Amino acid sequence: MTISSRNLNLLRSSLRLRPIGMRGFASHSSDPITFSVPSEFKTRTPPYAALLSRLDIVREILNRPLTLAEKILYSHVVDPEEAFAGKNGQIRGETYLKLNPDRVAMQDASAQMALLQFMTCGMDSTAVPASIHCDHLIVGHDGAEKDLKASIAVNSEVFDFLRSCALKYGIQFWGPGSGIIHQIVLENFSVPGLMMLGTDSHTPNAGGLGAIAIGVGGADAVDALTGTPWELKAPKILGVKLTGQLNGWSAPKDVITHLAGVLTVRGGTGFIIEYFGEGVETLSCTGMATICNMGAEVGATTSTFPYTDSMKRYLLATRRGPIADAASAVNNLHGYLRADKGAEYDQTIEIDLSELEPHINGPFTPDLSTPLSQFAEAVQKNSWPSKLSAGLIGSCTNSSYQDMSRVASIVRQAKEKGVKPKVPFFITPGSEQIRATIENDGFTDVFLGAGAKVLANACGPCIGQWARDDVPKGEPNAILTSFNRNFRARNDGNPSTMNFLTSPEIVTAMIYSGDMAFNPLKNKLVGADGNEFLLEPPQGDELPPSGFQQGDLAYLPPIDPNPVPSAEIVVSSTSDRLALLEPFEPFEGREMKLNVLMKVKGKCTTDHISAAGAWLKYKGHLENISNNTLIGAMNEETGEVNRAYDLDGTGYGIPELMVKWKSEGRPWTVLAEHNYGEGSAREHAALSPRYLGGRMILCKSFARIHETNLKKQGVLPLTFAEESDYDLVKSCATVETLDLLQMLNNGGAGTGFITLKVTNRDGGEHIIKTKHTMSKDQVEFFKAGSAINYIGNLRRQTQAAQQT
Ligand code: SF4
Repeated sequence: MTISSRNLNLLRSSLRLRPIGMRGFASHSSDPITFSVPSEFKTRTPPYAALLSRLDIVREILNRPLTLAEKILYSHVVDPEEAFAGKNGQIRGETYLKLNPDRVAMQDASAQMALLQFMTCGMDSTAVPASIHCDHLIVGHDGAEKDLKASIAVNSEVFDFLRSCALKYGIQFWGPGSGIIHQIVLENFSVPGLMMLGTDSHTPNAGGLGAIAIGVGGADAVDALTGTPWELKAPKILGVKLTGQLNGWSAPKDVITHLAGVLTVRGGTGFIIEYFGEGVETLSCTGMATICNMGAEVGATTSTFPYTDSMKRYLLATRRGPIADAASAVNNLHGYLRADKGAEYDQTIEIDLSELEPHINGPFTPDLSTPLSQFAEAVQKNSWPSKLSAGLIGSCTNSSYQDMSRVASIVRQAKEKGVKPKVPFFITPGSEQIRATIENDGFTDVFLGAGAKVLANACGPCIGQWARDDVPKGEPNAILTSFNRNFRARNDGNPSTMNFLTSPEIVTAMIYSGDMAFNPLKNKLVGADGNEFLLEPPQGDELPPSGFQQGDLAYLPPIDPNPVPSAEIVVSSTSDRLALLEPFEPFEGREMKLNVLMKVKGKCTTDHISAAGAWLKYKGHLENISNNTLIGAMNEETGEVNRAYDLDGTGYGIPELMVKWKSEGRPWTVLAEHNYGEGSAREHAALSPRYLGGRMILCKSFARIHETNLKKQGVLPLTFAEESDYDLVKSCATVETLDLLQMLNNGGAGTGFITLKVTNRDGGEHIIKTKHTMSKDQVEFFKAGSAINYIGNLRRQTQAAQQT
């Protein structure tokens, strides 16, 4: 596909691409304000001066006090005039923002497809600083050393591929054993006022250090990696006012486990949670990260906190003094890192930290929240197991120095009384820095002395990589963890394991009793001398008194690695886990003629479209993972799951028929009902249908993120103007577009309708009206074959123009 130079300029300006060869944060040379930092901190410091300049424009247009989240988000909007002018202040929940994130982080499972897509754009380096973290593929079983060796052996082709991409494109590579993505981001990259994307749902962890950090799919990450504006509907803002101060056994975890009970798993959807109030000042930075981390469990876009002294202390402790100074200056001089006086929230919830008691949430859902004082009764009432089978602490959620030191204080008390844990106890340090520091400060010896198993610095049991062999599959049992997710079978693959979430302190106290009804605030343990004793509330240090240890320096990548364009990407042609992507074919330039592969009945989530579980192994191999396409969908005409019928009536598994029609050159469409593609924003749910020859999805309504994902992959999403027309169209019917070209030629503008001629197999013909929501940019994606193709074309043409 070719683009004329005039169009190229127009399109470049409409997309506001970052200039090629200018990696790093945007800045305006004419900015009157500077917050300079030494060169080694430049790529880790938000472009405060540029952000403030843009915020001035936003303020002028909106003319009202702004919340903290609005300030950070709106100052990252590419063109505030275009985004905010003429909207009558109707922004939150209504206006789509085109944003320039400052940074991208990717974990090893999701990075594979993100990078495979990025590669097809033909860029020499990423447009913004980025990092890869090898954490999700490490199994927990025998302890750090053995587990790490075994997991590296099993996953070496994935790690080698990621390492080679990092080298070629100048991305930081944090190898297996270096730590968990969100802990490393907190220790190194998160900064007050930063806006970043991460290919993992717990990316909001970085909000503990005052960032706006959002979890996305790989195709969204590619937007940022290529310097293409990333689109987000401006979230509403949920203000959570914190008063008082935590005390005794209560911990930051209890703020979010309590809030999850109030909001439920959907209550935060479409919102950014912004904390405020005097209670905020009493929290540690890592405690705030725990709270932000689990905001994902209530569906929030992200969570964030205003700049506090504890954030400054954490920045200093993690060797980022100049960044702390810049953040303090931008906040003191301009109030950038806190909400404006009088800023209004869409909803407000108040929590008195002084009154907050420990909570235990679960099983099987993070919003089933029970205050500790009522937990014994809940265990009995719900017939949950009366005995605990294991306690696990750590993960990206709760593995801070403060967490570990408070846990160590409990273990020491028990040791003094000669008491040992009654059940297996596992500890997952969040990073090499945490591991080395707790070893240096004697905590590791304390834990090992209690018989604990210290696992690798990786996700391990939190992501289900727990080779658990002490409880047979199917046996009901209860575990307590300080993790963040507790869907059924999440940790050990056993659907009968009841997984409860709570603070590391409560997990630790409970392992000494082994009794699910135990309440350390009032129930006593029996010491080796036969005397009863009550555990004292945990004590700990916010930060290591003698500083953080860096541990094995071999894990540390260069701060700002240079791309090595000559580096070869390592992918074996025989691999069944990784395969380079072939760009999708561009649009043929004529009206489309397709066949209806099937009509899907009822709910069709991204799980139905692209099943997870064992298929996750193939995330980097589009052909292999596509064998799961729509296998969970129900055929409306037969009531069968994963069954579709060819033109001659022969039945096939759904992906099998897709493969067959693809090989026959027969493009297809699928019909569906309401909210098609709800659930996790799984990009394979759009990639796989496209890969197998799907060019249109026609349904009664879409989940918005999935609709956008389809457009990004060059699939045309249409909805019935008259819902009842769903009944007119039969499987195997021929569907022809009548005015698609007109819509494309108008850049999406026009009536908003596309007319289809449907010819059923019995010869019955129908003209039906459908609706589209294609924007000008999305029309270009469609014509190019995909958003990635379009961005790649644009990049190549800009490069060529620069060379002539
Ligand atoms: Fe996700 Fe758990 Fe890993 Fe955190 S530790 S990134 S929640 S899998």
